[in-house]
Amino acid sequence: MNLNKAFKELYPYKEEKRVMSINYNNRFKSLNSNVKYDNHKIVFSLSKDWLEYSEELRKGLVQSLMVKIHPYEYEETMAIDLYKKFISNLNRYAKRDKTDPILEEAFKSINKEYFEDLMEQPNLVWGKKAFYKLGHYEHQTDTVLISEIFKEEKELLDYILFHELLHKKHGIKFSKTGRHMHHTKAFRDEEKKFKDKNIEKKLKWFLRKHKLKNAFGF
Ligand SMILES: [Zn+2]
Repeated sequence: MNLNKAFKELYPYKEEKRVMSINYNNRFKSLNSNVKYDNHKIVFSLSKDWLEYSEELRKGLVQSLMVKIHPYEYEETMAIDLYKKFISNLNRYAKRDKTDPILEEAFKSINKEYFEDLMEQPNLVWGKKAFYKLGHYEHQTDTVLISEIFKEEKELLDYILFHELLHKKHGIKFSKTGRHMHHTKAFRDEEKKFKDKNIEKKLKWFLRKHKLKNAFGF
C-alpha cells in the first residue's frame, strides 16, 4: 500500500513529512488496529486478520487512522467510505453465543418495552467489579457487558442495559473529523424515554454509597 498516496487522497493540500509504515501483528485481537507516532515516524499496526480483506478496505482503515492523528476535515475517499460501511455492519454477522439468565431476562423486558421486541439479542456478559466500568457495548462482537455491581440492582441494571442497547441501535457515527461519536443528540433524546425519571440520581447515590465515584462512564 502506498501510504503517501493514501494520505494525499485524504488531504490534497497537506504534507506529511514523517516516515509512515505498516506492520501486521499476531498479538492483536481480530480486526484490531492502532497508530503510534512521534516527530519522525508514524506506524500503523493492524492485526494479521486484516490481510484476508481487500487492499481497498485496508486502505480505508489506514486512512481512518490517519484521520485520528490529523483531526481536521478530510476528503471522503472511496476507501474510507467502504471501511465505515464495513465496520457499521460487522455486528450483524457476529457470533452470538454468550448469555446469562439475569441479563437475558432484563434484555427481554427492555426489548419489549423500548424496542418493540425488534432487537436481536446481543451477546450478554458480566464485567468484573474490579474494572469499575459500568457497562460497555462492543460493536465488532455485538456484545453488551454490564458490571457485576448491578447483579442485584434490577432498576439500575435495566437502565445501564438500556443505554448499551441504544449503542447497538444507533451504531457507529462519525464526526466530520472522523472521530467516533458515542452519545449523539439523537442518542441522548432516546435515552430520555427511560421510564424512571429519577434513575440518574439513583445511579449517583448507588455509586456514592459503594464508593465507586471513580467508575468509568458507560
Ligand atoms: Zn455510552
